[in-house]
Amino acid sequence: MKALVIEPSKLYQEILTQTLNGLDSEVVCTGRADEAKDIMASQVFDCLIVSMLLGDIAGPIFCAQVRSERRYSQLPIFMLTASQDKSALEDAMKSGITEIFHKDDLSIFRNYLCTFEERIEGKGVSGTVLYVEDCPVIAKITKHILEPIGLTLHHFINAEDAIESLSSQAYDLILTDVILGKGMSGLGLVRALRSENSPYAEIPIIVMTGADDTARRIEFLHFGVSDYLSKPVLKEELLLRVKNLITHKKLLDKIKSQEVQLRRLAMTDQLTGLKNRHYLMSEGPARVSQSNRHKLPLSMIMVDLDWFKKINDDYGHEKGDGVLSEVGELLRSSCRNEDISSRFGGEEFLLLLPHCNETDAKVMAERLREKIEVLKPVGVLITASFGVASLPLDRSYTFFQLFSASDKAVYQSKSSGRNCVTVCAVTDVEGSFI
Ligand code: GH3
Ligand code: MG
Ligand code: MG
Ligand code: MG
Repeated sequence: MKALVIEPSKLYQEILTQTLNGLDSEVVCTGRADEAKDIMASQVFDCLIVSMLLGDIAGPIFCAQVRSERRYSQLPIFMLTASQDKSALEDAMKSGITEIFHKDDLSIFRNYLCTFEERIEGKGVSGTVLYVEDCPVIAKITKHILEPIGLTLHHFINAEDAIESLSSQAYDLILTDVILGKGMSGLGLVRALRSENSPYAEIPIIVMTGADDTARRIEFLHFGVSDYLSKPVLKEELLLRVKNLITHKKLLDKIKSQEVQLRRLAMTDQLTGLKNRHYLMSEGPARVSQSNRHKLPLSMIMVDLDWFKKINDDYGHEKGDGVLSEVGELLRSSCRNEDISSRFGGEEFLLLLPHCNETDAKVMAERLREKIEVLKPVGVLITASFGVASLPLDRSYTFFQLFSASDKAVYQSKSSGRNCVTVCAVTDVEGSFI
């Protein structure tokens, strides 16, 4: 960025030069308005920084003179002043000063310049834009504005092809013209993207039109466009609107992915990577109700490692953890995608198996028992006791009744000498999840 500082104080000239140099910006300093005008006649600046009082005239008068020239109508002019005079500050704003900063807290101005410089240099935005424009000249100009700041534009001359590309490419923004020749119009495109259940409902859309029309603009806003611009669009304005929407979209995407990650973490047992008790509690009852409703088989297998306390005592807690982790992996890899494999207690696991009847569940439990017997996780010989309970097809039972039956079955396996499988019928007893 290149700034012109118009400030009679050598001290503030020096401070501003250092600040701007620190931002990799070029600075030219002068103390007088007439000199400033001469400099501006031969050099282009990204902003002016003026003081309230200049060597020859007042800062706001200089500002009004600059603003009266069309070529400077978009030039940001910042004022750095020690003045606390409310009416003088108000007059300065009215003269066309873009923003006023106070000399008693230079850090605020420094931070502002930092973001201003980033904006000028087009830093900090990357993304892919779906661009729909049927006029090649406008498309070329728009690309010329947006691509240098780090955006990738996928340009289509009709809405139909643009919609098709959405299925194979993720976009951060959609920028569309309104009148698009023969096919679907810009409004048609927006309606399609914002229709109910559209997977693209959250992509921001900017409409850019040469044929502005109030009724049409209201229609666009009604269908949820994020912004509406009339051509010819100011370069700086287009850049900022695009940048703001993309930054906002990326922030939302980040929050959403963090939310998904947090939810996954909250439902996962950290040691084994299996689902945890919380997940089982929230998902299990719904799975059981589903099977009841559709009269489909469903089984539960409870697995409790034998003498695990002794394993900890003999080999240490760390090895104990290693055992749990390997058993967890064995159970997970023995289940189908639709099954729930969970660790619901210290050395207790529970498998919920939809579409699996009692006979199959018993076979599966027996197979798992054999696999665990020969697994030797972290070099330790282990066994486990199993409890199987299944939904009968002619009656409905709750998840908790099923749980009680499999718990009872495990207890019986323990009493029968451990390392075995027991099946228990589900009964009407009020089940609980302890
Ligand atoms: P049984 O054959 O009757 O099931 O005996 P057991 O020793 O396996 O059962 P008990 O319920 O008496 O002990 C379970 C042990 O599991 C006690 C506890 O220290 C251990 N344990 C629970 N959670 C963890 C864990 O995360 N890591 C380790 N290493 N041990 C755990
Ligand atoms: Mg057009
Ligand atoms: Mg136990
Ligand atoms: Mg045990």
